Amino acid sequence: MYFTKPTGDTPSLLTWDEVNTLFHEFGHGLHGLFTEGKYNRTAGNVPRDFVELPSQIMENWCGEPEVLRQYAKHYETGEVLPEALIEKIQNSSLFNQGFANVEYLAASLLDMDWHTLTAEDQVDDVNAFEEASMNEIGLIPEILPRYRSTYFGHIFSGGYSAGYYVYKWAEVLDADAFNAFKESGDLFNKELAVKFRQHCLQEVGEGEGMVQYKKFRGQEPSIKPLLKNLGFEE
Ligand SMILES: [Zn+2]
Repeated sequence: MYFTKPTGDTPSLLTWDEVNTLFHEFGHGLHGLFTEGKYNRTAGNVPRDFVELPSQIMENWCGEPEVLRQYAKHYETGEVLPEALIEKIQNSSLFNQGFANVEYLAASLLDMDWHTLTAEDQVDDVNAFEEASMNEIGLIPEILPRYRSTYFGHIFSGGYSAGYYVYKWAEVLDADAFNAFKESGDLFNKELAVKFRQHCLQEVGEGEGMVQYKKFRGQEPSIKPLLKNLGFEE
């Protein structure tokens, strides 16, 4: 992590993005610390579509007014972040989500189209293949997939082949998991925290991601909390 450095008499003051990164990476850290298992696969090396749940769920606490009031204090006066700024942070989280999500999902689906080709399929023109793939999902011309095929490094050289979707999938999981805390009326619900720790961090290698998730949540994740977070649903 590369955080803003201290300057002169001013200590390192983190930007909002950096605070989110801190919570995120701390989640990976907790996963590493709590996980138990003898083998690589059972000791934390979980499949890619589960790996960002422990980290992304932490970002939910980061921005909650109740939590902000506990740590977001002025470095000189100790004054808590004003309500007006907390509101601004919350409102700005909805900015441009329609565009961002469509370009991301378009790239994820393009990835799947490339990686479900069979040996018999003949692709002579990369751009034509991409266009056909995007027409299939009805992508509007104002939005392009986040990465075009010719520079989609994640899926051709970055190890995310047929796996670019995982960030969004993790968002489904983290939004639904965090919603369990919200629904309980206590963001620090210890009973839920213990369950999450046990099934999703400590013993996560015991079963497939969905199996472990259901042990924590009692049901499969719903997409609704994510849609709400993104401002797509009231
Ligand atoms: Zn991460």
